[in-house]
Amino acid sequence: MEWVDLKQLDTLIQQIKVLGACVEEIGISGEGRSIYGVTVGDEQATRTVVIVAGLHAAEVIAPLTAISILQTLVGQPPSTVRFCVVPMADPDFVSRNASELPANVTLQALLNLNHQRDLEGHFTTDTYPECVAIRQWLEHFNRIDAYFSLHSAHCISPGLFFYVGSTSNSDWVSQVASQVATTTPDWILLLSQDPTGLSKNALYSGFFELEIPKRENLNVSNPGSSLAFVTHRFQPQYVGASEMPLAVCPALVEASLTEIDQCNRDFKQTGRTSYLFKEIHLDTQLCIMESWVWSVTEHVAAAT
Ligand SMILES: [Zn+2]
Repeated sequence: MEWVDLKQLDTLIQQIKVLGACVEEIGISGEGRSIYGVTVGDEQATRTVVIVAGLHAAEVIAPLTAISILQTLVGQPPSTVRFCVVPMADPDFVSRNASELPANVTLQALLNLNHQRDLEGHFTTDTYPECVAIRQWLEHFNRIDAYFSLHSAHCISPGLFFYVGSTSNSDWVSQVASQVATTTPDWILLLSQDPTGLSKNALYSGFFELEIPKRENLNVSNPGSSLAFVTHRFQPQYVGASEMPLAVCPALVEASLTEIDQCNRDFKQTGRTSYLFKEIHLDTQLCIMESWVWSVTEHVAAAT
């Protein structure tokens, strides 16, 4: 997988179909592009894992991770767990970002991908036809045992973290956190607090609790995320979102969000920053994201 694979996501999805996945057009984007739902695994499987990638279209690790996971699964279809994946939730904005990606992909080029709208934050409303289509597809399911919304921090960040829905199975959350800590390279810090301030509760290093608002508190002016939608409808045992950075900068650990933003703005504009940082290679990002998903899947498969 390469960053420039972003330019050929449709082709990669069709290749996965040829290899045996069920690829459905679950809806049409605002500009007429296909939104795909991809299913791998036995139709009769009693458990379902759902992954939605790219509700923030500039966070391009998300569709690449979804495709990479599907490529792995289609070679070895699981027997007891069915995977249902939306690899590209916002194809219109992904295609804008893809078309602006240069052949030689640098960190600065990735940071400058800025075609994005907040499908995650408006998931429960009818603001975007993409969200309506994905919701309708999910509503057909009998159950969802685990749900992942793939995101990246999209910046030079002090470290890595994930959000976990507050209603998730606490044993799973604990064991998954320790497995991810084991597989994450030591130089990538799992943060001890949320730099965005969204979560006040660090459950484990790099794993922050995401409060799921009550269903009755969600409305047009207070919309809910895909995590809230899936939680209310299916009560999965695990609901999570990744916040994978493109580069880590330990010097920013004590920094305010404003300072982190400023560092990112400087780098976007000039390709330089006074902070020392280290890029996370695409393969490493994929490896960490996938180890998180596989770790949860083991619990899904083992659950009685
Ligand atoms: Zn995001």
